[in-house]
Amino acid sequence: MSNAKKSSAEVQPCPNCATELPVPKSTRSFICRSCDAIIKVIGTDDGIALKVVGKSVEDDPTYQAYEAQAAELVAELDELHKRYLVEMAKKPGAGNFRRGIFGVVILFGGLIVMIWSLAVGATLAGFGLLVAVASFSAHSRRKAAFEAHTGEISRTMEKIGQRRDLIQRKAARMKVEI
Ligand SMILES: [Zn+2]
Repeated sequence: MSNAKKSSAEVQPCPNCATELPVPKSTRSFICRSCDAIIKVIGTDDGIALKVVGKSVEDDPTYQAYEAQAAELVAELDELHKRYLVEMAKKPGAGNFRRGIFGVVILFGGLIVMIWSLAVGATLAGFGLLVAVASFSAHSRRKAAFEAHTGEISRTMEKIGQRRDLIQRKAARMKVEI
């Protein structure tokens, strides 16, 4: 058996599945082509020995947990993005703003009419002012609500995206850290 050890510098059985493996000289660890085990090459007095340091990364429960978490976050992001698009489509139109302008026009018209008839002009101007104030405030209220809502969704999406990136980076690092 000591004979086998000496000639083992080139080919050795995988310590996990016993497949004869050519041991790469350049690296200290490699992956068995047959069982995907992560194998470390350890230098001994009379050559080298192979040691299983891990099964495939994909089998690692921690890695699987990261992958599952990342997949969950991706699904969540997808859902949020759909909601965001729906909300964006509800963007308030310019209707109230136009009504506000209309009110201002009536207000000034009323002020002009006041030259001839104080009562009619004042009534007209008062009506115009009322329309203008109501329309402009409705417009800005809706706009603020819309922006708050869509802004909240996009902030949530940003946070979830950051967490997804973090988990994916952790998972990727596991592959390198062998
Ligand atoms: Zn193997």
